[in-house]
Amino acid sequence: MSANQNREPLAPCELTEPVSVPEKDLPRRLFANAHLNAQYPLTFRSLRPVFDFDKPTGRLSTISLLVVHRSTSNLSFADTHRVHRDVRHWFGIGYHFWIERCGAVLLGRPWNLVGAHAKPYNRCSYGICLAGGDAPPTTLQLRTCGALITRLVQSDVDACWWAFHREVAGSRCPGDSLQLQDLKPHIAPSVKRAVSRFGSMTAGGALKINPALWGA
Ligand SMILES: [Zn+2]
Repeated sequence: MSANQNREPLAPCELTEPVSVPEKDLPRRLFANAHLNAQYPLTFRSLRPVFDFDKPTGRLSTISLLVVHRSTSNLSFADTHRVHRDVRHWFGIGYHFWIERCGAVLLGRPWNLVGAHAKPYNRCSYGICLAGGDAPPTTLQLRTCGALITRLVQSDVDACWWAFHREVAGSRCPGDSLQLQDLKPHIAPSVKRAVSRFGSMTAGGALKINPALWGA
């Protein structure tokens, strides 16, 4: 029996009303350009997930890739956090940002810690997950996702790119209901796609990358 199975269950997320998140608790790169911030507004909320500090995760230094995901089977943010933490025995929810169907962004994995969402790129990427399972994403979700990608990249346009999960790993995520043409109009034209940057996929469906370029 593993140590995990012997432990008392961890406290769940606090399922109270989400609270607004102060700027100081967010990556500074999100606020690097006042003009773009006004053009791409975002609302951040927190449910205060309780992380398993017995499963430490490394610190993120370089962010070279933003990976877009969809939630599984309509699982809520809190349920996804519990599955990742208590079933998969990870530090906690693997995504850094979670976009509700109303367009609000819930904070998941702390922005300065390595996530668990797109092996082998976890050490150089943020994971962004849209709630809603197989249902088509809402316009508010798409708009928020585009704004989040734009604002995360804006301070480092030449060194950070975005992709769907399926484009960087052997996965169907984010599913057929989220296609490039749905999301691209909501992202600033200067933001580059990881796929265009690095070209062909491997036989396994993952991008061929140069680890030096990705700061991994
Ligand atoms: Zn995914």
